Amino acid sequence: MSQTFSFEFFPPKTPEGVEKLRNTRRQLAQFKPAFFSVTFGAGGTTQEGTLAAVREIQAEGFAAAPHLSCVGATRANVAELLQVYRNENIHRIVALRGDIPSGMVEFGEFRYANELVEFIRREHGDWFHIEVAAYPEYHPQARSAHDDLANFVRKAQAGANSAITQYFFNPDAYFAFVDEVRARGVTLPIVPGIMPINNFSQLARFSDSCGAEIPRWLRLKLQSYGDDTASIKALGLDVITDLCRKLLEGGAPGLHFYTLNAAGNVSTIWQRLGL
Ligand code: FAD
Repeated sequence: MSQTFSFEFFPPKTPEGVEKLRNTRRQLAQFKPAFFSVTFGAGGTTQEGTLAAVREIQAEGFAAAPHLSCVGATRANVAELLQVYRNENIHRIVALRGDIPSGMVEFGEFRYANELVEFIRREHGDWFHIEVAAYPEYHPQARSAHDDLANFVRKAQAGANSAITQYFFNPDAYFAFVDEVRARGVTLPIVPGIMPINNFSQLARFSDSCGAEIPRWLRLKLQSYGDDTASIKALGLDVITDLCRKLLEGGAPGLHFYTLNAAGNVSTIWQRLGL
């Protein structure tokens, strides 16, 4: 089975951000990813930006995969957006529930991502390759590990083609999750999401909110570097390259990099892996 490598961006909010993303994309394009994905602000915060970014990617001749989160959306909103993407000849969607923005009271017409997957399949047949999210360390709102696995299986059964994981630093969590899912009869590829390490306080904040565990030894070591960004970056490159190597050697069907719109760390990891 061939491996799938992809890079994720967020939609920039300023003209400088747009220019920075173009440069990042140019650098990462040399690695010939299967696609570039672009995140989507749940509840409408960055939706225009997502569309603008995927249009640029497609215009440059690369496959773009917009993320689409359904929280707060109506069926009519989602149907309209899917048609726009289809008109742009986009064939891949990352289908998500999204996080409920603070202050949002209405959930909208979709409650969970499996309902969105089902809707896309029903409306568009096989036009879209549908990616869904997977959580090797389990979703922070899941009632139990068992429920979360059952909910992941629901997304697969609704018609997802493949999955991208939340980031994690412990490869055993990924392999155990894949085994659990396979034991439930799900065969779709589950591509690890990889978060390069650049800034400790930002990483700690993200990890606390999304439920990704930073192992104690790594947290303490990163913390001990304080403002020494060069040491944080060096350790981060070693740790993440080693993680990627273990994942690929263990059979992971590719890697999806959370680039945070920067090419430096990802390029170094890529080169060290000899991909
Ligand atoms: P779901 O699969 O719907 O799961 C959400 C929670 O509900 C889980 O706890 C699950 O166990 C439970 N659940 C699921 N189905 C059911 C059911 N039928 N009955 C009862 N409980 C159920 N967020 C954004 O806003 N924009 C993005 O662009 C974005 N991109 C992401 C990309 C990746 C690869 C990943 C891993 C996450 C991304 N997120 C993004 C974050 C994501 O939206 C949040 O983690 C969100 O809280 C859950 O989305 P989901 O699609 O996994 O939801």
